[in-house]
Amino acid sequence: MPAPPDPAGPDPARPAGPVARESHLQEVSRPEYGFQDNPAAAGAAAFTRMWGDLAGVGWHPGTGGYRRFAWTREDAELREWFTGEAAARGLDVVDDRAGNLWAWWGDPDKALTDGAGPGVVLGSHLDSVPDGGAFDGPLGVVSALAAVDALRHSGFTPARPLGVALFGDEEGARFGVACAGSRLLTGALAADRARGLTDADGVSMAEALTRAGRDPGRLGRDEETLRRVGTFVELHVEQGRGLDRLDRAVGVGSGIWPHGRWRIELPGEANHAGTTALDDRHDSMVAFASAVLAARGSATWHDALATCGKVVVAPNGVNAIPSRVTAWLDARAPRADAVRAVVEEVAGVVQVHGGTVTEESWTDRTAFDAGLAERLAALLGPPGNPAPLLATGAGHDAGILAAAGVPTAMLFVRNPTGISHSPAENAERDDCLTGVEALTAVAAELAGARPEPGG
Ligand SMILES: [Zn+2]
Repeated sequence: MPAPPDPAGPDPARPAGPVARESHLQEVSRPEYGFQDNPAAAGAAAFTRMWGDLAGVGWHPGTGGYRRFAWTREDAELREWFTGEAAARGLDVVDDRAGNLWAWWGDPDKALTDGAGPGVVLGSHLDSVPDGGAFDGPLGVVSALAAVDALRHSGFTPARPLGVALFGDEEGARFGVACAGSRLLTGALAADRARGLTDADGVSMAEALTRAGRDPGRLGRDEETLRRVGTFVELHVEQGRGLDRLDRAVGVGSGIWPHGRWRIELPGEANHAGTTALDDRHDSMVAFASAVLAARGSATWHDALATCGKVVVAPNGVNAIPSRVTAWLDARAPRADAVRAVVEEVAGVVQVHGGTVTEESWTDRTAFDAGLAERLAALLGPPGNPAPLLATGAGHDAGILAAAGVPTAMLFVRNPTGISHSPAENAERDDCLTGVEALTAVAAELAGARPEPGG
C-alpha cells in the first residue's frame, strides 16, 4: 500500500534531498535550537509537523489520491484542524456568510477605525478534486500558518492585521461550481443558485450545509468580511512546468488566462454496426473525432490549449452507430482572441457535420495587481534578478478576489513534473520550505508597515 505523499519526510520513490536541507531539518529538531535566531527554521519545523498531520485526511489508499469534498466528514475534519491550528497560535477564527474561515492576528475591525487599515490575508483551500494531489490548496494553507510561526519567532508584530483564510469548496468537485466559497463571498455566485446546486446523489448544497450544521439562509455576498481584506496573497503549487523550465523555486503570478467551456452537439443516425455500409452512415462519433483533431491543430497554431475531456454518446452501444454525441470543449490561452479563434475553427468543423457549439462559460483574462506583483517579485529575488512573473491557465480563489477588486497576488512553488489534479502532483521539500520563506517575507513586507497617511 502506498503512503500519503510527504515532502517533509523521506520519500522512498525519490532520491534523498540535498544534504544541506537534511542537516538543516535535523538541526531544527534539536531541543536547544533557538528559533528566535532562525525564524525560517521555526517555519520549516511547523510546516513539517502540519504536513504530516494533514497527510491522512481524505486520502484514499486504493488510488493514492485525496477525496476532500465540500461539506463532507473529511471537510469538517479539515476545518476542525484549521481552527485548532489557529487557536494554538492565539488567532481569532471567524466564519463568513460564504462558508470560508478567517484566522486573524490582530483585530481587523479595530484596524479599520484606528488607521492601521484593512488586513493582509494569506491562504488557499483544503478541498480536492476526486483523487487529487496533496499540494493543490493545502500547500498554501500550511505555508501561511508556518509563515505566521516564522514571523512570531522573529519578534515581528504586524502593523496591520494579518489573516489566514481557508476558502471552502474551491475545486467544485461536489456541486460543479469551482471557487464556490470565494464566488459566494464576492457575490459572483448568487446564493439562490448555490443553494440549488446538487451533487451526484441529488443532495443540494442547501441540504449539505444544513447537515454540516450551517444555515444555508446565511449564504451571500459578505461585505463585512470583504472590508477587512486589504490585500490577499495565495501561495499555490504551480500546475505546469514554468518554474521548472526557468530553474526557479518560487514565482509570482501575473494573471489568469482567459478561459471558457463550450458544449458541442453532433447529431447522427443510429443503425446496425454490422449491416450498414460505410457510405450509408451518419456517424456522429466520426464527426466528433474530426472536431477533436481540429481543436488540437487549432490550439497548436494559435498557441492555446484545447481539451475535449468529457463526452456523452447515444445510444452508447458497442454494435450501434452513434446517433448523437454531446461533448465539452475547454479552451484557454494567454490571449482571448486566441481562445476565440480556436472555438471558431472547431465550430466550423462541427457545423459542416450539422452540429452546434454553445458557450457555457467564459472568463476573461484576470490580471493580478501589476504593481504588487512587481514589488513582490523584486522582494523575492536577489537584486537585479527578481522572481519570475507567470500567468496561469488554472482558476483560483485569488482570481475571484482580484476580479472583485481586491488587490491580490499569487506565489507559485515549483512543480517538477507540472502534474496536478492527480496523485502524482508533487513539489520538493526544499522548494516548499523556500515557499514558506517567501510567504513570510511577503507577509512581513505587506503587514509590517502602517500605511502612509492619506495613502
Ligand atoms: Zn488550488
